[in-house]
Amino acid sequence: MNLSITHACVPVCPVCGSKMSWTIPFFDREVDAVVRRGNGYHWRLCRACGNGFPSTEPTLAELQIYWNRNRIDEAESPVTQEVWRQRVAASRVWAQHSYDFVVPFVRSDSKRFLDVACGLGETVSLFQKHGWQADGVDADPNAKVFHERLGIRTTIGQMESVDALSRFDLISIAHAIYFITEPRRFVQRVRDMLDDGGLFLVVLSDLLSSLNASYPGYVHTWYPTPSSLIYLLEQEGFEILGSQQFRGSRMVVARKGSRTTPRAHPYRAYWAHLSHGWRYRFIGKPLRAVASLRKRIMRA
Ligand SMILES: [Zn+2]
Repeated sequence: MNLSITHACVPVCPVCGSKMSWTIPFFDREVDAVVRRGNGYHWRLCRACGNGFPSTEPTLAELQIYWNRNRIDEAESPVTQEVWRQRVAASRVWAQHSYDFVVPFVRSDSKRFLDVACGLGETVSLFQKHGWQADGVDADPNAKVFHERLGIRTTIGQMESVDALSRFDLISIAHAIYFITEPRRFVQRVRDMLDDGGLFLVVLSDLLSSLNASYPGYVHTWYPTPSSLIYLLEQEGFEILGSQQFRGSRMVVARKGSRTTPRAHPYRAYWAHLSHGWRYRFIGKPLRAVASLRKRIMRA
């Protein structure tokens, strides 16, 4: 597999266009370790808006090769029925929680919903059951069989595959916005596809929490924190209506409105990146070990 990339001289933040940035630690799959460097493929944090971004964003074709290795595949042998049952159960929990969170903000009667990167389709199915005209889009062709079982309408492809003339009252993306190429253009496209006053719901893993072992890596196209995501949304004309923490993730709902001056917290994000390794090692890892032990004792 050839994933060779070219390097621009001065990396530019894909969110705000600033050329001022710091280097941050990332997971280098070539050496199978977390490293921090300023040459070759590496990661940076924008000093203006606080968003993490790679020195060179992988192309969609390169990402597709990567995703195909991690796709939903019912035939893969290590994945047992039990694992599938757990994946579906987790998807249902998230679907219900997203629904309960966002519905109080809905003002429109037409109820047209689009779930981007809809995965197993449980969120689309739940909205459909509640009377919404619900659609999903997902890049993985193997997900289609799950959608057919649920009797939901989905498009296999990228966001661009959705009919450009379609309009929605609510668009959501859960646990996938850090895999979207050109995040700024994606948010602009979401805005274009929403009717006036339409809502955008983003579910974001709290990647820099002490409990999260993730690092920026090749699979990510950018690396937002909740506050840098809010920066992007405000920059592109969304008004933040609410946000809620749930199971190590942050749900943010925003309404299409007018442009405002976004607020940024780059130094806070920089500190979170630099301290992430030791925070996970000395706080997150021991806490997770205790939680897992408690679970085993409860089961016994
Ligand atoms: Zn920026």
